Amino acid sequence: ATPVGLLTGTGRGAQLGILIKGPQVLEDTRTVDTILLDKTGTVTTGKLSVARTVPLSGAGAPGNSDALLRLAGSVENAGEHPIARAIAAAAEAGPRLAPVTGFVSSPGGGVRGTVDGHLVIAGRPGWLEENGVPVEAAALELLETEQISGATAVLVAVDGTAAGVISLQDTIKEGSAAAVARLAALGLRPVLLTGDNAVVAATVAREVGIRPEDVLADVRPEGKVEAVRRFQSQGATVAMAGDGVNDAAALAQADLGIAMGSGTDAAMAAADLTVMGSSLGQVATAIELSRRTLRTIK
Ligand code: ADP
Ligand code: MG
Repeated sequence: ATPVGLLTGTGRGAQLGILIKGPQVLEDTRTVDTILLDKTGTVTTGKLSVARTVPLSGAGAPGNSDALLRLAGSVENAGEHPIARAIAAAAEAGPRLAPVTGFVSSPGGGVRGTVDGHLVIAGRPGWLEENGVPVEAAALELLETEQISGATAVLVAVDGTAAGVISLQDTIKEGSAAAVARLAALGLRPVLLTGDNAVVAATVAREVGIRPEDVLADVRPEGKVEAVRRFQSQGATVAMAGDGVNDAAALAQADLGIAMGSGTDAAMAAADLTVMGSSLGQVATAIELSRRTLRTIK
């Protein structure tokens, strides 16, 4: 007797820009009590802009910020992460782009490629180290100085030497704070889950009303899956909302995976539900809708 009600719910969802993979999704949606929210591109717009490029002095480093931005932008131009798009756009608008060969992307880590005969690596300190680049105190200090101001900052290495830092600014989506309040009112516990640094994560959490103890920062893609499992093993029914390649495995592990329509194909493929408007408000609406629909059926 339930299919009609379920289909109505699905149809209503489609009208609201909420695409649901199957009728059983609504059942899962109804019972979630914890929602993990990716930061970049989910709580924030993910439309980052480069605030500044700061070269490190030292052997092998291109001494000026334009040269560094051009090398980094040329590699990032092959990437699809919001950080990649922002750095490529800044380079394109300024010092222009050059072709890249041997491009490699490590979700939640960074990118690597060869530009003008130089091996360029951009990303987290751990990603540089994985590629054999020593990350010394001066580089870490510069990175942290940028992060303390609330920026998402990445390291850039050229030919095996840390060469500088690019810092980027993101903006919280209009409506994210109101949506977090709605989710909490629905009885869900909102948790921020991000690969970005703890300072940025805490700032975003405060601004949208997520409790400081519910912030998980510096989390690698595997760590996002583990976080979902940890909540599940504590008895929680977990929704996870995300947009990136780095979120896909966690979206699949969650009881209810929610992708942003603006996000990557990998996230949408792994999710149970996609919100086309890419707003957290729509996520709250999806959960409200499912509860109402199933109440009607009963
Ligand atoms: P989030 O969870 O906020 O979406 P990610 O897991 O995608 O963040 O990324 C975590 C970190 O990995 C970034 O803050 C950055 O330091 C690094 N990173 C990821 N992709 C890139 C990239 N294309 N270029 C440089 N750094 C990157
Ligand atoms: Mg993201």
